[in-house]
Amino acid sequence: MPHSSFNPYETAQKQFDNIADKLDLDAPTRNLLRDSMREFNFAIPVKMDDGSTKIFRGFRVQHNDARGPFNGGIRFHPQETIDTVRAQAMWMTWKCAVVDLPLGGGKGGVICDPHDLTTGEQERLCRGWVRQISKNIGPLSDIPAPDVMTNAQHMLWMLDEYETIQGNKYPGFITGKPVGMGGSLGRKEATGYGVVFTLREALKELGIRCEDTTASFQGFGNVAQYAIDLYHQLGGKTVCVSCWDQNDQVAYSYTRKDGIDLAELQGITSRFGCIDRAKATELGYQLQPGDAWIEQPVDILVPSALENQVNADTVQSIKPSVKILAEGANGPTSPQADKFLKKMGVFVIPDFIANAGGVICSYFEQVQCNINYFWERDEVLGKLDQKMTSAFIAVSELAKKKKLSTRDAAYVIAISRVAQACKDRSWI
Ligand code: GLU
Repeated sequence: MPHSSFNPYETAQKQFDNIADKLDLDAPTRNLLRDSMREFNFAIPVKMDDGSTKIFRGFRVQHNDARGPFNGGIRFHPQETIDTVRAQAMWMTWKCAVVDLPLGGGKGGVICDPHDLTTGEQERLCRGWVRQISKNIGPLSDIPAPDVMTNAQHMLWMLDEYETIQGNKYPGFITGKPVGMGGSLGRKEATGYGVVFTLREALKELGIRCEDTTASFQGFGNVAQYAIDLYHQLGGKTVCVSCWDQNDQVAYSYTRKDGIDLAELQGITSRFGCIDRAKATELGYQLQPGDAWIEQPVDILVPSALENQVNADTVQSIKPSVKILAEGANGPTSPQADKFLKKMGVFVIPDFIANAGGVICSYFEQVQCNINYFWERDEVLGKLDQKMTSAFIAVSELAKKKKLSTRDAAYVIAISRVAQACKDRSWI
């Protein structure tokens, strides 16, 4: 979970300033890009099942739309703040740009814990979020998507509310919808599979066979589960996963030295990625509270939960065996930890390349909705692999050519593209 003193927006702005210096960006471009273009912060009254009314706080931040409509997920999280959403919106702009999508960056959020809400309360919260913001978003201006603790059903309720308000059908209003209701085949697995497409390329570059590697994952939600699935298909072995325990309000790591069984763990996991501790113990997993996932003597670490998990405190526990850090989550590594990883010689696959599979597939979903023709799963995943692999190769070639870290190289490509789009539009 995020440190209470940690502000991800400061990290995002620090990362931006560092690259703005390297690119020698002019002052107006810097001022435009280091802040959001528009921000919405609103109340959502929701009728609860017991007859009471509860007021939730919702956000939508629109960082930059020079390259196309704002685009980005909606997170349901008890520790959401305007600054977590601002940071995430900025990271979305860079993510869309580095993989060359004709989209800008935005993000939404609600301060809530969906574990505490019934299905009906969640539906009313989703509809309430859309009612508060429907005039400021839309299929041609700002397209939401799923993110932390939101899923296809949430997206469909939001679509239904938007179409009810507008009085027409707008399947391209939101992505991550259920298949058969305007959703794309492959969208569910896209983010996790995308992490492994980039991991496969990084292993190739380092001359390591996937079959010879072990990995430890932080998180066991949608991203981690599909990443583990493809990683195992490529011959890798996962020895540890971790997840947040709602009752104890602490994360637990689940370790099994001879490898976890994905299907077995999925069978005892809630739909928010919370593993049943008692059943896991019976199945022979070793349980530890805290950050044990990062202390494993593995080749690959995959933080796939929240921001600031690899920080000045935890980075010291990374074992010398670790060769790759594949950032499944958005913003999991702090700038101090980054320096440490560099010293250790860890190959970092930065978040906005590693986890771009979700937004790439969201873009494919928009395209399919617009032409009203839906592709087969293999076609979607094949196009996804192609797009991620070429973005990874461009980043790694620039990193080698200019002697930059992979993160800086990815930022240089993304920020240059967005700055250029602002210039081309004569905004600057
Ligand atoms: N929420 C995901 C992300 O952070 C996906 C965004 C999208 O599909 O637009 O990349």
